[in-house]
Amino acid sequence: MSIPDEVKRRRTFAIISHPDAGKTTLTEKLLLFAGAIQIAGSVKARKASRHAASDWMEIEKQRGISVASSVMQMEYRDCVINLLDTPGHQDFSEDTYRVLTAVDAALMVIDAANGVEPQTIRLLQVCRARNTPIITFVNKLDREVREPLDLVSEIEDHLGMEVIPFSWPVGMGRSFGGVFDIRRDQMRVFRAGEARHSNENDELIPGLENPEIAKRFGSAFTKAHEEIELIKEASPEFDHAAFLAGKQTPMFFGSAINNFGVQEVLDALVDLAPSPGPRTALQREVQPDEPKFSGVVFKVQANMDPAHRDRVAFVRVSSGRFERGMRLKVARTGKEIRPNNVVSFLSQRRELLDEAYAGDIIGIPNHGVLQLGDVLTEGESLQFTGLPFFAPELFQAVEVKDPLRTKQLRIGLTQLGEEGAIQVFRPQAAGGALLLGAVGQLQFEVVAHRLKTEYGVEARLMPSRYTMARWFTAEDPKAMRKFMDSNAANIAHDVVDAPAFLASSPAQLRVAQELYPGITFHAMREHG
Ligand code: GDP
Repeated sequence: MSIPDEVKRRRTFAIISHPDAGKTTLTEKLLLFAGAIQIAGSVKARKASRHAASDWMEIEKQRGISVASSVMQMEYRDCVINLLDTPGHQDFSEDTYRVLTAVDAALMVIDAANGVEPQTIRLLQVCRARNTPIITFVNKLDREVREPLDLVSEIEDHLGMEVIPFSWPVGMGRSFGGVFDIRRDQMRVFRAGEARHSNENDELIPGLENPEIAKRFGSAFTKAHEEIELIKEASPEFDHAAFLAGKQTPMFFGSAINNFGVQEVLDALVDLAPSPGPRTALQREVQPDEPKFSGVVFKVQANMDPAHRDRVAFVRVSSGRFERGMRLKVARTGKEIRPNNVVSFLSQRRELLDEAYAGDIIGIPNHGVLQLGDVLTEGESLQFTGLPFFAPELFQAVEVKDPLRTKQLRIGLTQLGEEGAIQVFRPQAAGGALLLGAVGQLQFEVVAHRLKTEYGVEARLMPSRYTMARWFTAEDPKAMRKFMDSNAANIAHDVVDAPAFLASSPAQLRVAQELYPGITFHAMREHG
């Protein structure tokens, strides 16, 4: 198959939700429906590890599994689907956000009993900022849940995009009769059970006005009927361009644990979600079907064996075709690498990869040659934009217990900072302790543990008064200098020496914004 044809059949998406909404279950079922049955067990294995997430040793033991299961590839209806997991709340970190930069669409799972929850909102904000198209799956209709119409308006309020129901539930909990497919004008009757691996043998009843459905499902159907009429009048038509622009989300209802509504999601991915698009580099726009390979490291994960300090760089292929044994140039250093043990994530088994195309994710084991944000090409110097660093929301000051190890602390923190495990800020004022910034609490524990095991440094983490950071820039260098001089106590530099303003409250940031109109504050810094 030609490169353009291979690219056209790729779908790369992230699955996002608040913990316990059913993301793991749905992931498992998507793989099951796509025919990758053997892997269902390893998704569970990863899930089991999460309960011990506060115990970092335990996480490390399980890390091999999570490396493999955070990216999954499957084939469905002639499409190659790459599914990227976003970690749940306990292992929430910047990685979670960065995964969203490597996808072309997102699948949002909502627990119908809980509606839109905080973790989902955080992730959605990132999707919104990038205009990522979102498909919505409302889960757990086999339970007594919230009114579907309320869920629609809640999602619309939080997403700021139009919700277009493609299906509608008939009843819920004990009276859950199935879902009515609004576009095909037919009802799919609910059957509970894990045994279903496809929709093939389902009972389908045509026609919203069909008296047979009304008779069989009674008041549950009467209600659904009214709601569907209402939706047909009130919601706009589905507009594919608006979906691709992140302005509309198609919505599906189901019950993941009962394998119900799963195939509709897979079909939506194939029929609605976009294939890989162009990516912007500083030099030019890179088309996915160009013959030459290029890719970006969007995640670096230390591997199973800490003694070897080997890492897997997760690379999203941006263009062309990757082949085993190919020579690649690391744009940042100009170094050439020739990775032979590149892994793909097909069906969850970490397999040696022979080829990959734009949209695919490949894993390259290395010993630190590859860093977050690195671009790999066949020789061209490219720097992709848009790999973001997010302003941390949690801060801790860090000191070394044994002053003789100060240098090791700096080395360790620089490397961990480059890897993206944590953000490190060096205060401008002399004598201040280094500051660590994170978006998830677990990042601190992980860093303290890794400093000890990998760099032999016992670090002491201490509370910090800061609660927010903003990178800043100014058109006028004089304004910049004045701001930095007058606020020296609140200014720190990150790993690439970009200056940031640290504040202990939103009010303090507001005051700075009012006093210094010539300064622009940024909640996100792009790599580079
Ligand atoms: P995650 O934290 O989002 O990955 O959620 P899980 O997939 O682990 O699901 C959380 C809990 O909800 C588990 O106990 C699942 O068995 C349960 N669950 C998932 N899907 C459904 C569903 O469709 N109906 C019901 N009743 N429970 C579900």
